[in-house]
Amino acid sequence: MLSVTDLRKTYSGGEEALRGVSLDVGGNETVAVIGPSGAGKSTFISCINRLTEPTDGQVELDGVDILRLSGKDLRNARRDMGMIFQEFNLVERLTVMENVLSGRLGYVSTWNAFRRKFSGDDVERAYEVLDRVGLAGHENDRADELSGGQRQRVGIARAVVQRPKILLVDEPTSSLDPETSRAVMDLLTTIAAEDEIPVLINIHEVNLAIEYADRIVGLRDGEKVFEGPPEELDEAA
Ligand code: ADP
Ligand code: ADP
Repeated sequence: MLSVTDLRKTYSGGEEALRGVSLDVGGNETVAVIGPSGAGKSTFISCINRLTEPTDGQVELDGVDILRLSGKDLRNARRDMGMIFQEFNLVERLTVMENVLSGRLGYVSTWNAFRRKFSGDDVERAYEVLDRVGLAGHENDRADELSGGQRQRVGIARAVVQRPKILLVDEPTSSLDPETSRAVMDLLTTIAAEDEIPVLINIHEVNLAIEYADRIVGLRDGEKVFEGPPEELDEAA
């Protein structure tokens, strides 16, 4: 269970991107965060995994106080949070398999350092996950040879291969056409359900949030302005 309490972020320029946002995500649910550009959606996710340092508040993942961690403990905690990004964030010159395995490290060093780190179990799990995202047979393709939809499938595989406690997903479809977006959302929510991983997802397409989320959170100017099931958002709109 992810439990965020009164999260605040003021950037050094004085921009109050988050003004005290609280949210719990657990069980097997998909929670979508919607809101206009600049509402604070990206900041919210990046403060949870501490790619951005929040100014104040509390973040707990299965009882672990994320904001107190540093060094190795923080790296381990980040491994419990599977990240999926808007621009996929693949290493272009590496293969599909190398990209997926790099999720277990949280970063990519040299291929030799890399090989020493992985057991047969890691590789077996990576093959299994790549099969489930429809990329069996593409393990040795270079990331920069893939289509956008395929790249995001690699992103999904890289995030779930490490058996995270939660998936943090930032605008996964904004670089994709509508048809590919839907395919990616189908795949993401199916795999999360099968592996019983809760999902916190930023998405600006409200129709996709309504279709795929169990709960919707509306952000505006760094504040939560709505929280409820998709049906209630339909009625409010
Ligand atoms: P969203 O993801 O909803 O578009 P963001 O979290 O990206 O919103 O941005 C929230 C606010 O914080 C915006 O006003 C944005 O300009 C500002 N912001 C985002 N990142 C930074 C940064 N690194 N430095 C300063 N201001 C930032
Ligand atoms: P994203 O597409 O992830 O929302 P943006 O295009 O908003 O990212 O921002 C790109 C980069 O610029 C990010 O590192 C973000 O943190 C930073 N940034 C965004 N808004 C501002 C801002 N108002 N001032 C300074 N940096 C910002």
